[in-house]
Amino acid sequence: MADSTLGIGLVLPDVLGTYSDGGNAQVLERRLRWRGIAAEVVAIRHGDAVPATLDVYLLGGGEDDAQALAVDHLRAHPGLQRAAGHGAVVFGVCAGFQILGTEFTTSDGVTHSGLGLLDAVTGPGPRRAVGEVVVDTTPGLDPLTGFENHLGRTRVGSGSRALGPVRAGVGNGDGTEGAVTGRVLATYLHGPVLARNPALADLLLGWALGSPPGALPLPEVGALREERLRAAKRGRQP
Ligand code: GLN
Repeated sequence: MADSTLGIGLVLPDVLGTYSDGGNAQVLERRLRWRGIAAEVVAIRHGDAVPATLDVYLLGGGEDDAQALAVDHLRAHPGLQRAAGHGAVVFGVCAGFQILGTEFTTSDGVTHSGLGLLDAVTGPGPRRAVGEVVVDTTPGLDPLTGFENHLGRTRVGSGSRALGPVRAGVGNGDGTEGAVTGRVLATYLHGPVLARNPALADLLLGWALGSPPGALPLPEVGALREERLRAAKRGRQP
């Protein structure tokens, strides 16, 4: 990969690929390419060493067993943690969110150590959270929309902060959603969430590039967002 090419690591898509969160990598690559910035998506599969040289790492959702397999692999091959220590951007969704925390307990009662990049602890909740979610985030970002499907509930400690309060849906389970510390950000939202929320995609790209990328108006994304916000208001699943 050329030095000027932004490297986007799609982490264990063969294990954490249940919810099509791999689309987040395509969104980032495409939004860079539309701006004339070279980017390459590198799929890091189970059994591969994890390179520490990439600029962005993306983790998706998966079942409990897949999640346990993934965290064992990432702890055995700590390239992602090393890269995060050097300022790489890390973005996790659902199982990926829980893996980035300090620990998570799966539905079989087994507690697994996470990667410790977020101050977040997850355990099973009373019932599966399934449906549309709307999150009010920090000023400057539009409300996030996405789809959740998880049993875990996550407590965010003082070393991280939640993305914001949920307007609809369950999220972390305490009225908040997601977590962020520095350039490590995670959420329960599928969609893929970066397709549904371009401002979030550009926030991550701004971190990776060192300055906010210019505007990229895509009117059809606005229409999709409005449609999903209406769906969440109706409390219906798509
Ligand atoms: N297995 C985790 C849970 O149920 C994550 C699910 C997911 O990634 N959608 O909480």
